[in-house]
Amino acid sequence: MVQLQNQFPENYSFAADGTMGAGEMPEPDVHIITSGGQSMPAHSRILASASPVLERLIARPQKRRSSVRKIHILGVPCDAVSVFVQFLYSSKCDEEHMEKYGIHLLALSHVHFVPQLKQRCTRGLAERLTIENVVDVLQLARLCDAPDLYLKCMKLLSNNFKAVEETEGWRFLQNHDPWLELEILQFMDEAESRKKRTRRHREEQSLYIQLSEAMDCLEHICTEGCTNVGPYDMDPNKNKSPCSKFSTCHGLQLLIKHFATCKKRVNGGCLRCKRMWQLLRLHSSICDQPDECRVPLCRQFKMKVQLDRKRDDAKWRLLVRKVVSAKAVASLSLAKRKREDEPRVSTNYHGMRSYKPNLN
Ligand SMILES: [Zn+2]
Ligand SMILES: [Zn+2]
Ligand SMILES: [Zn+2]
Repeated sequence: MVQLQNQFPENYSFAADGTMGAGEMPEPDVHIITSGGQSMPAHSRILASASPVLERLIARPQKRRSSVRKIHILGVPCDAVSVFVQFLYSSKCDEEHMEKYGIHLLALSHVHFVPQLKQRCTRGLAERLTIENVVDVLQLARLCDAPDLYLKCMKLLSNNFKAVEETEGWRFLQNHDPWLELEILQFMDEAESRKKRTRRHREEQSLYIQLSEAMDCLEHICTEGCTNVGPYDMDPNKNKSPCSKFSTCHGLQLLIKHFATCKKRVNGGCLRCKRMWQLLRLHSSICDQPDECRVPLCRQFKMKVQLDRKRDDAKWRLLVRKVVSAKAVASLSLAKRKREDEPRVSTNYHGMRSYKPNLN
């Protein structure tokens, strides 16, 4: 049993009119009755100033005229009530008591409207959450309207659901609170789909960034050439050193070499050629300088789009928008490459024919 008498701070005292000041502590004028039937002496002024709920209880007219008022605080262990009252006097609660009575103190502070203690308990309980106690704390957090603690419990629970399912607390909840069980399962379901959405978004973003990088490499290969692929009027040997995006650039160079020499081609059903074709079309869709552009088929695709607007489908436009925005984001961190003002390479039917892959 925590001794209340020890908890009055030493320099805590009251003047005769009840206000705090130097002097003797007045006689306790209230008795707090706890579950065990124990009676704890206390001072009504202190209780009333710490808790508006206790203030109302104290101000209530008494049924029987008696010198000492009685306040009942039931339903929690007597020692927890003692720690609670101690807090009302001193605004302090040590870690040991928090560890032992945190759950009860949260309930007491909520019911009696002592926000300072409630905040302490919310933090204290959140730090002490375990797989074993999470279901109990969750139920309490919901009852006591402690959203931060509630959310922490939900997260711990959904991240460790297999282990929580094995606990006594979960079994009790299943038998006695099906609504909370449903709430938990819904939370987990939503958390799962949130995770999926984030993952999908990240995957999509990385695809657009790859495409935007491929667009950069395409322009760079067709304008200045890279390692051994470049415009026919440039000597590829001059550009021996790999560029900074060589992993993408190299893949694109292989694709260009293939495109220039493939016998099946797009209409013959060649998938690699089809991919190259789409990259060229994508380039044309995002190219803002078709007149100076050296990427093959850029202007031809632009003209085709103008001729046949109806076939420019929504999905394609969306893809173009996404790649453009990925490109914009990437270009914020990269200095824009200078375009060389060189005469255009005339493109023949296949476009890529004017590119001279060095196949050695
Ligand atoms: Zn390159
Ligand atoms: Zn092919
Ligand atoms: Zn272009």
